[in-house]
Amino acid sequence: MPLVLNAAAVQADIFARLKPRIQKLKRAPGLAVMLVGRDAASEIYVRSKIKACAELGMVSEKVAPPLESTTEQLLAIVHELNARKDIDGILIQMPLPKHVDTRRVLEAVAVHKDADGFHPENVGLMVSGRPAPRACTPAGVMESLRYHKIKMDGANAVVLGRSDIVGKPMALMLLQENATVTICHSRTKNLPEVCRRADILVAAIGRPAFVTADFIAPGATVVDVGINRINDAAVAARLGRAEEFASKGRAVVGDVHPLDVARVAGAYTPVPGGVGPLTIAMLMANTVELAERHQA
Ligand code: NDP
Repeated sequence: MPLVLNAAAVQADIFARLKPRIQKLKRAPGLAVMLVGRDAASEIYVRSKIKACAELGMVSEKVAPPLESTTEQLLAIVHELNARKDIDGILIQMPLPKHVDTRRVLEAVAVHKDADGFHPENVGLMVSGRPAPRACTPAGVMESLRYHKIKMDGANAVVLGRSDIVGKPMALMLLQENATVTICHSRTKNLPEVCRRADILVAAIGRPAFVTADFIAPGATVVDVGINRINDAAVAARLGRAEEFASKGRAVVGDVHPLDVARVAGAYTPVPGGVGPLTIAMLMANTVELAERHQA
């Protein structure tokens, strides 16, 4: 039976390490979350982040400008949050509306309040192995791999996807743990063959159940970052999610075929419940670290 890398125990472990650090601070860490408009999925993510703050005794503030807000208006909000002494971390919930210059808004977040680890200066610090807030999703994956004692030193790691928020930082973090890393993307040739060389395979492409048995070496560790909604009952049934579809009218699957991975891998993260909660846990960790620096 493969080892299922559940996030719950890892999250509990991260929270247990954060609590004494939070208690030591003179003022509870403050996280501001900016959610533009009322996208249902984003509302759910923001609620989970606010709930995690409450669980840890941190202060959170939701800032919810309307969907029609202009780039300039959003920049003004970010500048105001940058100047506030009670806010240690700022998170801009993605995606922003199409008419907004996303890059300008993200880069307006002060480097010392960058709870997401997206600021180019923090990315640079991470690349050179220096302490800085780290992109939350790959940092959460690393916590899970460490917690479950998956050997990274000398392992062949393949990262499928090269986005700035998941694929690239994931590859660098694995490299820092002495894995031999290959990054794949939409132009990679012989994808199944390259992936089959992986002791650790991380899929972050946003394509439902794309990674099938022929991508996975028997016994490999497979991390599935993808979150994809299935709206077709027949597809859900083929992926073993008929019951979920019947009760919710949709199913959520990752980038890895859920039946194949359970059959071939040695260890794998389930979707949901493998990676998502750790993204939130690392957002909390980044905010605590920023608060410690502000109060040092
Ligand atoms: P992006 O769309 O930004 O990047 C996708 C990457 O996958 C690109 O590098 C793209 O290649 C590559 N890709 C797409 N299709 C293929 C293909 N057919 N073959 C090979 N490579 C391909 O996605 P993100 O990195 O933002 O997110 C990836 C997934 O992870 C999504 O499902 C997202 O919902 C999920 N996610 C989950 C989080 C969590 O907390 N669990 C957090 C963040 C994301 P190219 O660069 O060549 O176009």
